[in-house]
Amino acid sequence: MRSQNSPKTSPAPRAAEGEGRAALGATPGASFDGIVALDSRGAVRSINDEAAALFGYAAEEILGRDFGMLTPESDLSFRDHLGKTPSLRRRIDGLRKDGSVLPMELDVSEVVCDGERLFIGLIRDLGQRRFERDIQKLQANRLDLIENMAAGLAHELKQPLTAIGVYLNFARRYLNEKDLSVQKIAETLDNADAQVFRASQIMDNLRQFIARGETTKTPQNLNPVIRTACAFTDSLAKLHNVKTTINLDASPDIVLINKVQIQQVVVNLKRNAVEAMQNCARREMRVSTGLIDGDLIRADVADTGPGLPDEVKDRLFEQFTTTKPHGLGVGLSISRSIIEAHNGKIWAEPNPGGGTIFSFALPLAAR
Ligand code: ADP
Repeated sequence: MRSQNSPKTSPAPRAAEGEGRAALGATPGASFDGIVALDSRGAVRSINDEAAALFGYAAEEILGRDFGMLTPESDLSFRDHLGKTPSLRRRIDGLRKDGSVLPMELDVSEVVCDGERLFIGLIRDLGQRRFERDIQKLQANRLDLIENMAAGLAHELKQPLTAIGVYLNFARRYLNEKDLSVQKIAETLDNADAQVFRASQIMDNLRQFIARGETTKTPQNLNPVIRTACAFTDSLAKLHNVKTTINLDASPDIVLINKVQIQQVVVNLKRNAVEAMQNCARREMRVSTGLIDGDLIRADVADTGPGLPDEVKDRLFEQFTTTKPHGLGVGLSISRSIIEAHNGKIWAEPNPGGGTIFSFALPLAAR
């Protein structure tokens, strides 16, 4: 932010502006639209162009004059209060050059500059300009959100679409076999069909999410929900020669969940485990459930991969964290959002036998 030096007092006002910001160090980066420095009589010793423009003036028209010309309603009583408290914040009406009102917030703090008491005022425009800026910010946020959801959707749909392709290829191959088995082909097409259903459920959930900002949760047994999610990724694990052990025996296991979302988390964790192990000689994955303190149920996906790369350890669950050449870096952040929306927790820790264990815990529903 530029400052306007008063011809009479240069260079003190520039120092004052700097000190003013230092005095307000508790709110670094806090947004304000203009800054003004007053002496103890209330005369404007420095004002930046942005602050002057808020009132419709050029800075030179204000320098040296009483701050009261800009804030007729303000009694400047902050001068008495300051010294006792580090800063004061007031919502007041300013007066523009054209006579219109400037609703503003004034945040005043006292500084001592070259032995002189000065008051530094940070001005926030609460009127139209702020409103317009907030709208712009809101629109930018919404675009961000839509962009992230699109990335997430691409990520979630990739799995069922890949599986559909695999099943259709199998079906085509079976058609060319000498001892053609209608039953085998029908089963393969049923599998493809289940994946189409899953893709449409993902789309439905997303539509619900956009429409209502929430998704429906129903009481479900977690073990079978995870078992189905495991079936979704069976072909992927087999393709990469990963030996999978499944121990889903925690009891009780009733949780209030959105089934598809929890399955998305399991699919994400399993796919990451498979991908992590693709260059390892030992490729074992264990999916299990267990109870924590009797009121939480945990699900663990353990792999024998290389462990977590150092560079992502601290921000695993943040968006766009990836070490994969074609990774989107959204799988774990989406998983965390889903688990937290279920009042649960998700974390990762080293697998004692080598590799990583990704776990999430959900509150058990009352029976
Ligand atoms: P993506 O898979 O697109 O990279 P994720 O959010 O799913 O995005 O994963 C982020 C990063 O976390 C991965 O790129 C990888 O570095 C690391 N990671 C995730 N799961 C594992 C795992 N089981 N073993 C080792 N590293 C993992």
